[in-house]
Amino acid sequence: AYRADLDTTPEMVSRLSWNDRLARALEQNLFELHYQGVYHTRTRRLAHVEALIRLRDETSGELVPPGLFIPIAEKSNKILEIDRWVLRQAVRLLAERPLAPPIAVNISGRSFDDPGLPAFISELLREHQADPSRLLIEITETAAVSDLTDAERFIEAIKQTGCGVCLDDFGAGFASFAYLKHIRVDTIKLDGMFIRNLPHDHDNQVFVRGMVEVARGLGKTTVAECVEDEATLKLLAELGVDKAQGYHLDRPQAKHPALNPQEPNHAPA
Ligand code: C2E
Ligand code: CA
Ligand code: CA
Repeated sequence: AYRADLDTTPEMVSRLSWNDRLARALEQNLFELHYQGVYHTRTRRLAHVEALIRLRDETSGELVPPGLFIPIAEKSNKILEIDRWVLRQAVRLLAERPLAPPIAVNISGRSFDDPGLPAFISELLREHQADPSRLLIEITETAAVSDLTDAERFIEAIKQTGCGVCLDDFGAGFASFAYLKHIRVDTIKLDGMFIRNLPHDHDNQVFVRGMVEVARGLGKTTVAECVEDEATLKLLAELGVDKAQGYHLDRPQAKHPALNPQEPNHAPA
């Protein structure tokens, strides 16, 4: 007899095998974190780095970008384990490198309703004796707005642990500013859609000015992502955006110089 539960579509098959791949990647340590610098627009000094996950394909040896597997991991519960793996790596690195800059990690909206996550983070920091202010948590605007109550609770709990919180992809979700009254993020990261081509896009300049004014008024720091050329970086500094990140400054890399100081480099000159 026909059984609907045995009728698997190609999409289901590929999702099933992806779930296997993700499970194996966790077991066999096939994920990697690459790091991209975030710089002060005025001084151009490094402020912190953002950790971005990649999957090392077992057979080809190639790096699989997160856009290909994070959405799949978010459909199952695998994302909760992945987010914890990322946090563990980042905190370990902070502990190993006491002089390294702070590290920002991306946390999926799915993890808001992982009630144990804030305690997991504070326990991790305590265990490794890492300063909580060196760990920054990035959550997307879309995730925050889609469940404001959970996001509010999560952010409050993270602030309690002493970590910074950044609202990522700001402006991309076409949300109003009103929800900012309820969520206590320190930093707002302006979505790349407003930044690419900024010097030649009058409308985006208007939007960036507006977002900077709102952020300033609320006492929040601004970051621009996807900064791809010098003209954009200069303009961002003029518009009062505090920090910038993008290929013009550096690309995500496994061995970021800020985390891998050349040794021995502490000898007095
Ligand atoms: P995101 O957090 O908005 O990260 C920024 C993305 O823009 C990264 O892509 C980065 O490599 C890319 N990028 C940086 N500078 C430039 C630039 O100048 N131009 C352009 N065109 N792109 C630039 P990536 O690494 O592929 O990550 C994509 C998304 O996957 C991230 O977007 C984030 O939402 C998610 N993600 C990455 N790592 C993690 C993670 O560890 N955990 C979770 N939950 N999500 C992650
Ligand atoms: Ca991010
Ligand atoms: Ca972003």
